[in-house]
Order: sequence, then C-alpha cells, then structure tokens
Amino acid sequence: MKKYIPNIYSKSIYTINYEKLKSTKLLLFDLDNTVIKPHEKKATKKAKELFKKLKKEGFNVVLFSNSPKNRVKKVAEYLEIDYNYFSLKPLKYSFNKMKNKYNVKYNEIAILGDQLLTDIIGGNKLGIKTILVDPISKEDGIFTILNRRKEKKILSELQDKNLFKKGRYYD
Ligand SMILES: [Mg+2]
Repeated sequence: MKKYIPNIYSKSIYTINYEKLKSTKLLLFDLDNTVIKPHEKKATKKAKELFKKLKKEGFNVVLFSNSPKNRVKKVAEYLEIDYNYFSLKPLKYSFNKMKNKYNVKYNEIAILGDQLLTDIIGGNKLGIKTILVDPISKEDGIFTILNRRKEKKILSELQDKNLFKKGRYYD
C-alpha cells in the first residue's frame, strides 16, 4: 500500500509550503483538477501568479498532463510555463523524458497532482517526491471516472489501516 501514500498532502497547490522543496529543481504539475477544473479551458490569474513566483524562486515548472496537446498547450501558454501532454502517467516514459530534458535526478523532481493512481503511484515508483492535493472540483474527465472508483477503495483501505486519511493534511 506504500506506493499510494504521498510524501506531502496539502489542500491545494496554493497551500503547499514551497520553502520546504528547496532541494527540488523541477516541479511537475498535473493539469486537470490540480490547476484547473476538467471542463474549463483557462487557468486563473491566481494560478498565473503562483507559477510566476515559483519560476522567480528558481524552480523549473512544467505542466505535466495526460490530456491531449490542444488543452495542455493553451493553458501552459497562458501560464507561461513548459508543458508535456499525453504523459501516460503512471508510466515511467514521460517522467524520464522530463528528467533528461532538465538534466536532474529523480530525487530533485516533485510531482503535484490530485490522483493516487496516476500522479502519486507514478512518482513514488521512481523516487520522485509526491505531493497530493484535493481535486478542485467533483467533476472528472471521462478517463478519470474509472480511476476514481478504484481510488475510493484504496483510500478506504488506507484509512482502515490508519496509513492515510483524506482531509488530514501534512508536509
Ligand atoms: Mg488530475
């Protein structure tokens, strides 16, 4: 069950203590339900400000999504950050691509996302720092619906074993 447990769990990308991530050089942000709602097309000014601040602090920032190019590219351009689409999380392929592109080690990367079965498992398997946030809406994209059913079972098992509980944040 360990592979499902994030290193950090925060309410949203705005409540994370980025000060504690100083040894991290590359931040990979999931898009849907982490930065924007799955049925929205544009990010908020608040998001743009956050990414501006993170870049200023020296982080490399990438929008790292399983969604198609059109959707990811538009949001990333507005946010003025790099992007990777069709990332096939939790598979290793795109994580590795980012590692090589930015010339960093896995332990210098953090993945921030709202799904245990893509973002968190994918990162944990590689020794990437994993940061779970609560989904910003209750809606999910079509490919996420099945994952959520499975995730629900995992979450209840984690809670029963007292390993992890939704709403009990930590860093
Ligand atoms: Mg997501």
